[in-house]
Amino acid sequence: MSVGVQADCGFSFEMNPAVTEMRDWVHGFARDVIRPAAAEWDEREETPWPILEQAAKIGLYSLDFFAQQWLEPSGLGIPVAWEELFWGDAGIALSLTGTGLAAVAVSGNGTHEQMAEFLPPMFGDADDIKLGAFCASEPNAGSDVAAIRTRAVYRESSDEWVLNGVKSWVTNGGIANVHVIVASVDPALGSRGQATFIVPPGTPGLSQGQKFRKHGIRASHTAEVVLDDVRVPGRCLVGGKERLDERLARTREGGKAGQQAAMKTFEATRPAVAAMAVGVARAALEYARDYSLERVQFGQPIGQTQAIAFMLADMSAAVDAARLLTWRAAWMARQRKPFIHAEGSMAKLVAGETAVRVTEQAIQILGGNGYTRDYPVERWHRDAKIFTIFEGTSEIQRLIIGRAATGLDVR
Ligand SMILES: Cc1cc2nc3c(=O)[nH]c(=O)nc-3n(C[C@H](O)[C@H](O)[C@H](O)COP(=O)(O)OP(=O)(O)OC[C@H]3O[C@@H](n4cnc5c(N)ncnc54)[C@H](O)[C@@H]3O)c2cc1C
Repeated sequence: MSVGVQADCGFSFEMNPAVTEMRDWVHGFARDVIRPAAAEWDEREETPWPILEQAAKIGLYSLDFFAQQWLEPSGLGIPVAWEELFWGDAGIALSLTGTGLAAVAVSGNGTHEQMAEFLPPMFGDADDIKLGAFCASEPNAGSDVAAIRTRAVYRESSDEWVLNGVKSWVTNGGIANVHVIVASVDPALGSRGQATFIVPPGTPGLSQGQKFRKHGIRASHTAEVVLDDVRVPGRCLVGGKERLDERLARTREGGKAGQQAAMKTFEATRPAVAAMAVGVARAALEYARDYSLERVQFGQPIGQTQAIAFMLADMSAAVDAARLLTWRAAWMARQRKPFIHAEGSMAKLVAGETAVRVTEQAIQILGGNGYTRDYPVERWHRDAKIFTIFEGTSEIQRLIIGRAATGLDVR
């Protein structure tokens, strides 16, 4: 199934050839390189640098590839690529795609100069791979982004910003070359008083705090980032000071100030995160289907029992439904259509919940084997759970969809 644009009817499920070609190429890497390495890196709980190197060598981990897919005209470039990578393994795939969140935070709101200066060092090159990290969450500010305490203070005399605070649960936190930080510049304005800052490579005062030991996506590094008098030049304020000052002035006058910095980034990346979840769900569906054809009990393949076939039917329908919501949201985002009905949140909610349910059903279909580490479905189940938590929990997505549906300020 595929989506594209056909001139004669204005609507089509035909995927364009460039996207299919890219999908097959990424799938080959996921199948041949990522899948075979998945169990090892899950156990090691470390960033899989050798896999990143292999991906960088073929151009799959690169700014070029990311930019090309992000700007792909149908909007399907990123969702299709991410689905394949996460079909391979979610932990390794998050190590390959985590930089994207930081890149979007800069490219979505930054100036051309900022993109030219700071996007390349987020990716590095095949001989010297680098990562980016996006740091919004804090120990006391997860869903409640307005509660961010990290402070950014401007020193006019030296045209620099001084950042202080602690960021939590940061993907690539402390091991990234470039960190993108959401901080409060005017706490009295709550979330409207926040701005985003780039911390260039090697800036003193930024360090890694504790590294988290996780339930799933263990090949992806998650850690605290400590900011202790981190001084960055004025040009590191994403979007520039003039724009920030105008926005703050509008807010103080009680006018509309546009979207909160972190929320804008999360909204842009929601279809991409939904696609990650679809990839994990599809992996589990395919594995359970194949297993059900081979496993014989009571003299017949278990897939021939209605109980298992119905489960597979529900799983198939759920994965396709999640993918269609994801592609709709990605297409809308690319066409710059606003998510009036919270279409991005719908995709993230349904895909995340689907990944958890389908991977759980896959364990059930594999029975005892499914519960062991000799089979990948238990890992996929652990991995899937993250999709109901990060980049807005399922409850937060429901709040957003509920607000869109009712027009009320649902809390
Ligand atoms: C592996 C991993 C990687 C991450 N990567 C990053 C990253 O790179 N950058 C980054 O900035 N953050 C990152 N995060 C943080 C992530 O976005 C937060 O964990 C998430 O937003 C939830 O925040 P919290 O953990 O503080 O949960 P809380 O906000 O404390 O929520 C706890 C529970 O309360 C519910 N809840 C809270 N408020 C409401 C409400 N108003 N209505 C209904 N229910 C509510 C939540 O849905 C949840 O079930 C990552 C997290 C993890 C686990």
